[in-house]
Amino acid sequence: MGINYCMTCGAPLALRDIDGTMRMACSAEGCSFVHWGNYSIGVGALVLRDDKVLLVRRAQEPGKGYWTNPGGYIEQLELIHDSIVREVKEETAVDAEVRGIVAVRDLPRNIHNVYIAFAMDYVGGEPEPDGIEVDRAGFFSMEELESMNVAGFTRWLIDVALRSKNEGLTEDKEPLVQLDGHGLFRV
Ligand SMILES: [Zn+2]
Repeated sequence: MGINYCMTCGAPLALRDIDGTMRMACSAEGCSFVHWGNYSIGVGALVLRDDKVLLVRRAQEPGKGYWTNPGGYIEQLELIHDSIVREVKEETAVDAEVRGIVAVRDLPRNIHNVYIAFAMDYVGGEPEPDGIEVDRAGFFSMEELESMNVAGFTRWLIDVALRSKNEGLTEDKEPLVQLDGHGLFRV
């Protein structure tokens, strides 16, 4: 699945040799748009409270009826760690803050998806589903999870959340070099 027109100027795309690889690129004079591929980036939250993890039950496809951790797709002009705070609040009404990045999943398909999982600290609020994307929300123990319809990938993430031996990548709030507009996470 490809695109035929430039996403910058609307001119037709044509196959061009870009550093040794044939890619669809803009045919217009002075436009440098190259269609590198189809990508999406997801973010997910692992919010713990008293050894229980915050889960939601999806009310929409894909995965309708399954329990997952809260999350969503990133926005064009929003830092990913702001996106995940917002997603948690929107889906569950819970306030949480980012502790670090603890897992990355790579899924190269016709839309190449990268998913970034954040460990988050519970700040406040009682879980309340948004009623649109999710129809239930709550904190659950490992025992409770056994009898719930939890997605396989979510089970893997919960294991990461509960059994990680280090903090993962944490935000560098005072970087050595001032880099405006960057979200910086490091070991
Ligand atoms: Zn163009």
